[in-house]
Amino acid sequence: TKDTGRNGYTFFTESLQVTANRQLRLLQDLRRAIPRGELVLHYQPKFLAAGSDIIGAEALVRWQHPELGLLSPDTFIPMAERSGLILPLGEWVLDAACAQLRAWHDAGHDSWTMSVNLSPVQFASSNLLDTVRDTLAKHQLEARFLTLEVTETTAMKDVEASLQILHGLTDMGVHISIDDFGTGYSSLLYLKRMPATELKIDRAFVRELEDNSEDAAIVSSIIALGRSLQLRIVAEGVETAGQQQYLNKLGCDLLQGYHLGKPMDAEAFLRNA
Ligand code: C2E
Ligand code: CA
Ligand code: CA
Ligand code: CA
Repeated sequence: TKDTGRNGYTFFTESLQVTANRQLRLLQDLRRAIPRGELVLHYQPKFLAAGSDIIGAEALVRWQHPELGLLSPDTFIPMAERSGLILPLGEWVLDAACAQLRAWHDAGHDSWTMSVNLSPVQFASSNLLDTVRDTLAKHQLEARFLTLEVTETTAMKDVEASLQILHGLTDMGVHISIDDFGTGYSSLLYLKRMPATELKIDRAFVRELEDNSEDAAIVSSIIALGRSLQLRIVAEGVETAGQQQYLNKLGCDLLQGYHLGKPMDAEAFLRNA
């Protein structure tokens, strides 16, 4: 056997190599995932805070990998962003989510809305306005039924260009949600300029809401701020009945979280609605 020091070093470089190979392999697989129909959307319900009414869903992408099983977006979205694959992937997600919403409307749930996550890359470099307009037209959906979720960091990269696209979207009637609010690098000045209609409080502030007075103070400040800017306030990551009550009391409009409904495939979503 080799001496431990060298062995440790060898082990370290080998594991890096293995990781790199695995990533490369996964990227090759991802290129074929869309044409092979391996991507799927799960839908997490959005609820009115005051009651138990579903107002719509957030589409969350998964990858049904032939060997590795169902993969969460964290395992392939960053890779898709680095490789540019996020552009076709993002268009697929938007199209599939709108197709699903069309089907739900046709089934009688014609007030439901659909939220779709946008990647920074998509935001900066695709012809997003045309894509969104064409997709809505294709599925005969009014723009007001679609919410696009952007993270604070997303739009920060090129503020002026981003604002122009965001204004184009809101002019069309699409809703803009600032996702993961409170975790990015946003300034209040920036928030003021954003044509957003919704603010989504990151689940990091919701987790210890009941026991941590600082988190509670932050959440109530975000709600107050959102109110004064006439934004709809959503809290994500609601895992307990206590959190739900608390957030409703603080004046949150909409809630999402495992306590109310986990992300589900379309069939389960309708069954549980
Ligand atoms: P996100 O947009 O912040 O989505 C919320 C994430 O929190 C989802 O994870 C959801 O399953 C999870 N979640 C929901 N309720 C709870 C809860 O009560 N407790 C906890 N602990 N987690 C909860 P998911 O589906 O793994 O997605 C992770 C991230 O991947 C998303 O975060 C979003 O940034 C990204 N993502 C997902 N789908 C897409 C997509 O179609 N396009 C892009 N660009 N990004 C996506
Ligand atoms: Ca989101
Ligand atoms: Ca979020
Ligand atoms: Ca997040």
